[in-house]
This record gives sequence, C-alpha cells and structure tokens, in this order.
Amino acid sequence: MTTGRKLTIRQEIISLLEQAPMTARDISQAVSIMEKDVPHHLSSIEKTLRQQKKRLETAPHYCMDCGFEFTKRKSFKKPGKCPGCRDGRIASAVYRIVPGQHP
Ligand SMILES: [Zn+2]
Repeated sequence: MTTGRKLTIRQEIISLLEQAPMTARDISQAVSIMEKDVPHHLSSIEKTLRQQKKRLETAPHYCMDCGFEFTKRKSFKKPGKCPGCRDGRIASAVYRIVPGQHP
C-alpha cells in the first residue's frame, strides 16, 4: 500500500474496474471502504463515465439456486431474496468499465 491518497476513492474504483471486473466486495477491500458504501459510489461513477465516453458494465446479481437474474434492478445494492424461489443464495454482481456509450 502507498501512503497518501493521490486519487479520490471514485477515481481509484474507476481505474481498478478498467483493469479487471470486480464485485462490490472486491472493490470495498481494494479501496478500503465498507461494502455497503460501494453502491453509492457506483451510481455516482456511472454518471461520471457518461462524460468520459465510458460505461459501467454489470453482470447482474443472480440466484445460485434457480438461476434468476436481477437484470431489472436499478440500484447497485445486493438483493436480499430471490423472487423466483425465495430461498436462493444470491451471487454478487460483477462490475467493469468498458469504452463506449450506452446505446
Ligand atoms: Zn432463486
């Protein structure tokens, strides 16, 4: 770890996600923030990226039991329960940043 922060947390997250796909947990550990704070940063990052002609690509949360994908979810927060089987374990969404605009 380097001492002193040259980039803001959001700039750090952006540069990490440009290099490799990460889950909210990966991000929280990489930049030393709480996992529950990651969704807030991601929604703000998404707006920043629009001006930079990049976009945040999301592989959605999904249910490991029935395979339900949370594709319509607007928030970056992890869903608590699967609407399909109500009992599945939810796999974390994976985020990465790619060049290009949303269609
Ligand atoms: Zn399910």
